[in-house]
Amino acid sequence: MVDFAKEIERRQHQAKQVITELFNYYGEAVCTLNYVEDPWRLLVGAILAAQCTDERVNKITPALFERFPGIPDFAEVTPQDIEPYIKSCGIFRNKAKAIQGSAVMIMHEFDGAVPQRQKELLRLPGVGRKIANLLIGDAFGGQAIVVDTHCGRISRLMGFTEHKDATKIERDLVQVVPEEHWTDWGHLLVAHGREICVARRPDCDRCPVVNLCDTGVEYLNRAEQSAAESAAAQVGDLL
Ligand code: SF4
Repeated sequence: MVDFAKEIERRQHQAKQVITELFNYYGEAVCTLNYVEDPWRLLVGAILAAQCTDERVNKITPALFERFPGIPDFAEVTPQDIEPYIKSCGIFRNKAKAIQGSAVMIMHEFDGAVPQRQKELLRLPGVGRKIANLLIGDAFGGQAIVVDTHCGRISRLMGFTEHKDATKIERDLVQVVPEEHWTDWGHLLVAHGREICVARRPDCDRCPVVNLCDTGVEYLNRAEQSAAESAAAQVGDLL
């Protein structure tokens, strides 16, 4: 029978070591969207980043914010007025609606300032846990795990969760990742997912946490076994 308390303790230790190694390798990993220090602009960037790259979002936001500098400017126009500025980043009609709807709600219900609590952020149109947690961690200096595609996938490969649902993954991770590193966890795994643990083919040979990852350990065991088999075959050939 699995001793859950022991298993959690083991995973907590594993998570701490992973954080140390990934910090050593990547240094301070940060959000790659611009305007991180401005909650409203980060919120807009995060809405635009759905099914789009941060790089593309960073290209289009300067012109968007030049035309609409603040929340009131977005609240007093229609979504159709916003659309031409965000057309190149996909599902732009929905995104324009979400951005304009969020601006209106912030003006009417939150005194013109982006709310800081997750419960309130989740009321804004187009804002799910991923965006809410991004704001809490990056714009407001709190701690929250952003479960994006890299974070979910690599956390599973490492053995920290078996789930595919982001809310369940977050629930598993908050039990084992030290709270002071919840925000770092998301950033570090994004950096790792872009450089080494890429979705198509994780490069376990180059991975700085290969010994700390369940998939990496399996990979090392297989490599060791096949080396032993080929050494045995060579000895057989000599006899
Ligand atoms: S060992 Fe392989 S699967 Fe595990 S994190 Fe590294 S690259 Fe990804």
